[in-house]
Amino acid sequence: MKYCDQFREMFEAYALGALDADERAALEVHLATGCKDCAKAVEEARWLVSQLAYLAPEAAPSGMLKGRLMQTVRAEAQAAKRSSPSKAGIPFWMWAGVAALILVTIYSAWKAQRLQRDIHDVNQRAAAILKQRRELEAQLEIAKREATILTDPASVRISFSSQDPATPQLEAKWHSQLGIVLTGQKIPAPSGNRVLQLWLIPKAPGGKPIPSLTRRPDAHGKFVLLVSNPPELLAATKALAITEEPAGGSTQPTPPIRWVGGVT
Ligand SMILES: [Zn+2]
Repeated sequence: MKYCDQFREMFEAYALGALDADERAALEVHLATGCKDCAKAVEEARWLVSQLAYLAPEAAPSGMLKGRLMQTVRAEAQAAKRSSPSKAGIPFWMWAGVAALILVTIYSAWKAQRLQRDIHDVNQRAAAILKQRRELEAQLEIAKREATILTDPASVRISFSSQDPATPQLEAKWHSQLGIVLTGQKIPAPSGNRVLQLWLIPKAPGGKPIPSLTRRPDAHGKFVLLVSNPPELLAATKALAITEEPAGGSTQPTPPIRWVGGVT
């Protein structure tokens, strides 16, 4: 019985020929399984539609009122079928008119609901496109910043060295206004979800390494890290260092230092 509930609102629209292709197909597949309840409901709805004598002005009753009216009309319809119109309490022409009014209001409510659903869909699609566009704009902004830092002659070039001569080269460019871009090729990915973290070593005697951003090289070993807002000024920094750290980074560097580059 629960499966049939999904069709309960459709019988009248089906009888009016107003269901869309998918809904009609779904209902017809279900009817083809021989469900007696739904077949009976469709028969009643068809009969009601056949009694549709004239069109009434459009109105939208509440769902509960609609349901109660439909129950009344269905009961009346069955009673009228069983007994002759003369014996029924309400004359045939009266409830036929009520049936017509109800059918039309159900149909217009159903159309309004459909329209609302369409508007909702269009709004959602528009929001998704807008979100995608903002993401692209943000990516473009990052790429532009990186390109400017890498090509501006005012940027300071920092070459990194490593204790292990087999370790691939890393390079950084530091622009006093735009930030630091770190680049490297064929950088082996740290194991698990560990990351490479950048540290700024201050010039001040005894100054502790200042943690900066973390990143993993991509699947091709390409490593690019943009630090838009370095935690220390270029002039106050002695060196940049890179360590391997757990995901999320650390507050103090974990030895060994994988790369170090002096800021001159
Ligand atoms: Zn059914």
